[in-house]
Amino acid sequence: MTRSAKAGRLFGDHFLSRLAAEEQAIVANVRRLAKEVLGPNAAAVAQQDVFAWETFRLLAKEGVIGTAFPRESGGTDARQVLRIRIVEELGRVCSASASIVTGADLSCRAIVAGASDELKTELLPGLCRGEIQAAFALSEPGAGSDVRGLATVIRREGDRYLIDGEKKFITRGTTADWFVVVGRAEHDPDCFIAVLVPRNASGFMIGPEVGKLGWAGVPISSLEFRNVATPVANRLGQEGDGFNLAQDALVRARIGHAAMALGRAIGAVEIATAYMADRKLFGKSLGEHQGAQWMLAEMVTRIEASRALVQLAAEKYDGADPDAGIFASMAKLQATDLGMKVVTDALQLTGGRGYLQDFPLERFFRDAKLNQIGEGSSEVHKTVIGRDAVRRARDLERHPCLKFESLVDY
Ligand SMILES: Cc1cc2nc3c(=O)[nH]c(=O)nc-3n(C[C@H](O)[C@H](O)[C@H](O)COP(=O)(O)OP(=O)(O)OC[C@H]3O[C@@H](n4cnc5c(N)ncnc54)[C@H](O)[C@@H]3O)c2cc1C
Repeated sequence: MTRSAKAGRLFGDHFLSRLAAEEQAIVANVRRLAKEVLGPNAAAVAQQDVFAWETFRLLAKEGVIGTAFPRESGGTDARQVLRIRIVEELGRVCSASASIVTGADLSCRAIVAGASDELKTELLPGLCRGEIQAAFALSEPGAGSDVRGLATVIRREGDRYLIDGEKKFITRGTTADWFVVVGRAEHDPDCFIAVLVPRNASGFMIGPEVGKLGWAGVPISSLEFRNVATPVANRLGQEGDGFNLAQDALVRARIGHAAMALGRAIGAVEIATAYMADRKLFGKSLGEHQGAQWMLAEMVTRIEASRALVQLAAEKYDGADPDAGIFASMAKLQATDLGMKVVTDALQLTGGRGYLQDFPLERFFRDAKLNQIGEGSSEVHKTVIGRDAVRRARDLERHPCLKFESLVDY
């Protein structure tokens, strides 16, 4: 039997059987695309950081982008438990592919959740089919982790809004037709507003694509708004809903980042174990050395534990659990930090071979870093999770081994 004819995978499909038959069919199709097209093309896509149009069009044609959209717009309104399986499959071979799918959700979610019926009818079918694109413009020069520090001002004048400000790091800046822009109301700095701005709006300037470490195939650029007018009808939700609409998109995106990081980690372990089987040193294969086995044991065990946490976060989101946001933060923190470590260790296990550009781990290594930074860095999520634990601990029942009086005085 040749190697390519062997069946089965190192990481099991435990969560797949929990999906409905039609959901499993979507995953099977994504798996086919990853095997036949996206995996083999991934290195070429990553060679220069221009938008991966062919990948985008393929994922749109195959209905994968449509999983982020409601049925009435032509989508499949996929549950997060399905989306994480899709993104894991894509992340296993190609970060650009995975990012195109999570990015569709990030950039369109506020439109799905907050646009008027007229706007939805006008835009969602085209976005779903990949005929047009949206971008999500939240980050600014002075507001990344500290997202409430947004300085973009949105001023109402009759039946239009006027926007002044700058946005930074915006994925699809050079390719999007519509931009979801979040800013503060001029009349009330605590009031966040989200509006849709068309690419050709007067006074709207899109900067050149900016070179970056990884995630080639999904370029970023800066945006500048100088008295840019957009109709009030382009507002998403009500005035004051801007932050919550952005947060909803971000929670989904965080679960997506976690799934992408785990997919890449799974791919890295598969590649490292193939090398370990082939590489002979000190009289036996690398895989027969206990030190290498221990590294592998850490990787596979922690990946499986993280997959369970990501699954839990997705289930909580699908069930509208009030803790979904915290679990999304935990899933992202755990999976993306682990993803970086696994890719680093997998590259270590493949020695000099892994360091070369014609070997996929070099690309995986560069791509892994962004998952720890985008949609809230690991440190931001630690802050969010720790603060929440301290807040909840105040209201919990006393541990049975403790007395009721103060633990400080004795
Ligand atoms: C490739 C790429 C694509 C992106 N796409 C988009 C997009 O489409 N739309 C969009 O709006 N934004 C986008 N972003 C922006 C991204 O979300 C921000 O980069 C991210 O939120 C971090 O913000 P910052 O870069 O300003 O880092 P900063 O806010 O400057 O933080 C720097 C570092 O400080 C540390 N830190 C932060 N807060 C704390 C804390 N409380 N305690 C301890 N340490 C802390 C963390 O290590 C953090 O990485 C993208 C960024 C990149 C690089």
